[in-house]
Amino acid sequence: RGHDTLEDSVAFYSLDMNRGMHERMRIESGLRHALGNGELLLHYQPKFQIDGGRIIGAEALVRWRHPERGLIPPGDFIPLAETTGLIVQVGEWVLEAACAQAAVWQRAGMPPLRIAINVSAREFTAALPGRLAATLARYELAPVWLELEITESALMHDIERVIDIMDQINALGVTLSLDDFGTGYSSLSYLKRFPIHTLKIDRSFTTGLPSDASDCAIATTIISIGQQLRHKVIAEGVETVEQLEFLRQSGCDEVQGYLFSRPLPPFEFETALRENWLLVE
Ligand code: C2E
Ligand code: MG
Ligand code: MG
Ligand code: MG
Repeated sequence: RGHDTLEDSVAFYSLDMNRGMHERMRIESGLRHALGNGELLLHYQPKFQIDGGRIIGAEALVRWRHPERGLIPPGDFIPLAETTGLIVQVGEWVLEAACAQAAVWQRAGMPPLRIAINVSAREFTAALPGRLAATLARYELAPVWLELEITESALMHDIERVIDIMDQINALGVTLSLDDFGTGYSSLSYLKRFPIHTLKIDRSFTTGLPSDASDCAIATTIISIGQQLRHKVIAEGVETVEQLEFLRQSGCDEVQGYLFSRPLPPFEFETALRENWLLVE
């Protein structure tokens, strides 16, 4: 669309911005409503040990069941919730829902699974360890059931404070995993100080395995850093047998991806677990 004069373009852009703002406001008030109205839910994507293929945990991924628009993926509302601050309430809901579910599985006598929730930068505050402790206590959930996935870019501000919060979370017995590793502003000097359990290779690197030489170099380097620092390494977004084989030969510990399973509703995740037990044992 061409604009003849500057005035035309300004009018056009402000109309456009307005539309964008209205759309954002619509999503925000809808999400606020969704939180109180039981429209959010979690799907669970299994994580597998690469040796033996046992399910060792799951990533809880939030979805929004919108009355008119159907199931909305997190990419369509989490970034907005992060800019408006609503992510804090969403995160509280996710922690609550994941712990409630894990407590059901714990009571059912399942062997402990690490259930990972994604935590945004704005949730990673001094209040977080206390909230985790209170929620675990309320559900009588053993802390080994809970894991937090944090992106490295969430951790780059005020490193001393971040490490202090991480230490407190560790002291509870909750594990930490560095999500989308390699995509942020990684600083290896910070990495060596983070008291984390797992490095998560981002899907953007897994995708090119084993044909793209750069992706291979990056994946093997992350695995080797993980081994040196005594962290576990998991690859996300594994879709092909060739990717799996490359990761296995490179010494990756765990895998997650559509090759094995999509994120599943709780009941289907339980079915996947039962089948996995039969297959593995
Ligand atoms: P993430 O934490 O990196 O999660 C991995 C995403 O990759 C998920 O998308 C998952 O469904 C998808 N995925 C897994 N395996 C494959 C695969 O083999 N191929 C492909 N193409 N995709 C795969 P999803 O569920 O749409 O979530 C997107 C992002 O939204 C997440 O990225 C995370 O950053 C964010 N997110 C999801 N749930 C939450 C939440 O409860 N809180 C926060 N703060 N963020 C969340
Ligand atoms: Mg994640
Ligand atoms: Mg990830
Ligand atoms: Mg990712």
